[in-house]
Amino acid sequence: MKRDPVAFLKEDMTELRGNNLEWVIRYLEGGSKPHCIVNGKEVLMLNTNNYLGLATHPKIIQAAIDATKKYGAGAGAVPVIAGSFDLTREFQEKFAKYKEVEASLLCQTGFAVNSGLIPMLVGKPDIVVSDELNHGSIIDGVRLSGAKRVIFKHRDISDLEKQLKEAEKGGARRICIITDGVFSMDGDMAPLDKIVGVAEDFGAMVFVDDCHGEGILGEGKGIVAHFNLQGKVHVEGGSMSKGFGVFGGTVAGSKDLIEFCTNKSRTYLLSTAHPPGIVAANIASIEVVENEPQHFKAVWEHTNYFKKEVQSMGYDTGRSETPIIPLIIGDPGKAQELARILFEEENIYGTPIVFPMVARELSRIRVQMNALLTKEDLNLALASIEKVGKKLDII
Ligand SMILES: *Cc1c(COP(=O)(O)O)cnc(C)c1O
Repeated sequence: MKRDPVAFLKEDMTELRGNNLEWVIRYLEGGSKPHCIVNGKEVLMLNTNNYLGLATHPKIIQAAIDATKKYGAGAGAVPVIAGSFDLTREFQEKFAKYKEVEASLLCQTGFAVNSGLIPMLVGKPDIVVSDELNHGSIIDGVRLSGAKRVIFKHRDISDLEKQLKEAEKGGARRICIITDGVFSMDGDMAPLDKIVGVAEDFGAMVFVDDCHGEGILGEGKGIVAHFNLQGKVHVEGGSMSKGFGVFGGTVAGSKDLIEFCTNKSRTYLLSTAHPPGIVAANIASIEVVENEPQHFKAVWEHTNYFKKEVQSMGYDTGRSETPIIPLIIGDPGKAQELARILFEEENIYGTPIVFPMVARELSRIRVQMNALLTKEDLNLALASIEKVGKKLDII
């Protein structure tokens, strides 16, 4: 009998469904805002990385429209072949200034930065020392590099030091410490000041992926500014798709780093540049972040209020230090049930996060604050979260 070469597609999905781990995409009819229409009904969106609410900011939308009219819809090819836009140069200069570094590069996505650049920074003779909870794109980048990967316990500096001592003994050519700036499941921050201190002792390179810190920490400038470490972090990766509300990956650092990345990162070399409308929107987004501090203030006000309220109801918010707020429930079934009832009956959209994204006993729903939420929205959400949490015996 001939075998069915694609039978595994259905089999794997049946297994995922059986384990209650299938993602079913819901569709938004309109912009990503706190009040949005999802699968045909209005819900309160507590799920996006669009922390400052800039995805629908009128100035940013206008910039995308104007640039699209002037430059067209697409870039045509990769930058090294067909050239980049003057707009992209403007973005990169502006972003570097904003980050207080020598230079920056606009890459396809945050994922592409990690998968394209990490394998060029390190290779077989090298060691990467990586926080155990780093983002999957870092893990993939390190795998592609062929470097030896050593994991240090989450945010644990003494374990990091121990691993660095071992790495030094092994005679690695280069040692690179990689960490998320803000960890997306728990909303906690890397102890970057201490990491930089230890790295200096060992002559290690420091790579921080600040996708969730940008727009949120350091008055919006990110985790490096938060700890006043400008000039001390060798590679800063980021994303324009989260706090900045638009799209694209970024690398920020020395001129040497940016020239190296431009010439070596395979995702930069082999994937088409951003459409001009996106580039212009990214420029406008930096301007908005610089000129309109109210968005930054609002998201932090909401964060502090919401966190205090859910904690006083009895929810465990774990290590959260940012607008990412997990409600840690433990039982994966209850976490999924809480999210389901909130969506179906209370019109509140929060993400259930269960194994394998987090350890089974740390199952949770995760909510994220947004500058465009109102106090009234927050109070409605809090009332629902309290009601359903009690019904399910969570609090
Ligand atoms: C979101 C995220 C990415 C991916 O960024 P995109 O621009 O969405 O591809 C990479 N690293 C971390 C830590 C992230 O949170």
